[in-house]
Amino acid sequence: MSDKILVVGELRENTLRNVTFEAIAAAKSISADGEIVGVICGAGDLNEQAQEMIYYGADRVVTVAHDMLETYTPDGFSQAVMAVINDESPDGIVMGHTSIGKDLTPKLASKLETGLVSDATEVTNDGGKAVFTRPIYSGKAFEKKTITSGLTFVTIRPNNIAAPEKDESRSGDISPKDVDIADIRSVIKDVIKKASDGVDLSEANVIVAGGRGVKSEEGFKPLQELADVLGGAVGASRGACDAEYCDYSLQIGQTGKVVTPDLYIACGISGAIQHLAGMSNSKVIVAINKDPEANIFNVADYGIVGDIFDVVPMLTEEIKKL
Ligand code: FAD
Repeated sequence: MSDKILVVGELRENTLRNVTFEAIAAAKSISADGEIVGVICGAGDLNEQAQEMIYYGADRVVTVAHDMLETYTPDGFSQAVMAVINDESPDGIVMGHTSIGKDLTPKLASKLETGLVSDATEVTNDGGKAVFTRPIYSGKAFEKKTITSGLTFVTIRPNNIAAPEKDESRSGDISPKDVDIADIRSVIKDVIKKASDGVDLSEANVIVAGGRGVKSEEGFKPLQELADVLGGAVGASRGACDAEYCDYSLQIGQTGKVVTPDLYIACGISGAIQHLAGMSNSKVIVAINKDPEANIFNVADYGIVGDIFDVVPMLTEEIKKL
């Protein structure tokens, strides 16, 4: 795959998510000397965000601004991105394997009757041919895929591919595109936000996750304190969510979020295969569990056999001293 790669940027509260820059890095691996065209859909002035994409390596950016694109809807965004695809005739389209990417790319790929490589954790180039690594069987194995022909969509797993260095000396064309967004079957009337817990779980570099061993909602407090001193986020197993110790938005695993932080601290989590599917690719895994036979120790780089209510506050105090 070569020539022209479209990178669909993703905004959260009008700021580009980091996975957008990681997608630019993936696009560069697909086609080192190809043209990288950023696409940003949203409402209002999108110039600042477009400029940011250029600083991170896009050669030029097309912005589609429309009131109906203020929040994501499958109909609105697919019309906007499809209009850009029709103008640009790219050879490939890359975006994050986020809830938006997971929704939008299959919709567009099926409309265009073309291919989709989803959830790539690595993109390399073998003599001009892009090679995508992606997990299969809930992360128990990895497969490598290449594209032999045609336009292909690619989604990349957040936090796996290093974003390019920001270079504020870069410049490029920013062109607004008018798209008549019509026939939207679902309209977002209101967005009810959960109070911010600080760092976003899917992009956090450090995650302190609690399982059923945390025993109560109150039991998550020492985990939050540890996450705070490490600048990280709190996650959970489904066991903890099912027990109503925390919200399902924190669930990590096969049916929750897939995360790859630099450091994952599993507290009172047994290590069921469905949980491992969401975190086993973390760079360093620390497990704290009072059962030395717990399966989580099989994937951990460092294991502490002990009671989380002793160990976690001790860790927090020691880290505060650093
Ligand atoms: P448990 O298995 O009960 O483990 C609790 C651990 O805490 C034990 O190892 C215990 O030794 C330890 N412990 C207890 N007290 C302490 C203490 N004071 N100090 C230290 N350690 C202590 N699970 C997920 O997590 N994510 C998913 O996405 C997911 N998807 C699923 C999808 C399907 C279709 C199915 C069938 C299951 C799924 N599950 C998922 C559930 C999964 O199988 C497990 O039931 C769940 O992960 C168990 O959660 P847990 O490890 O917190 O609890």
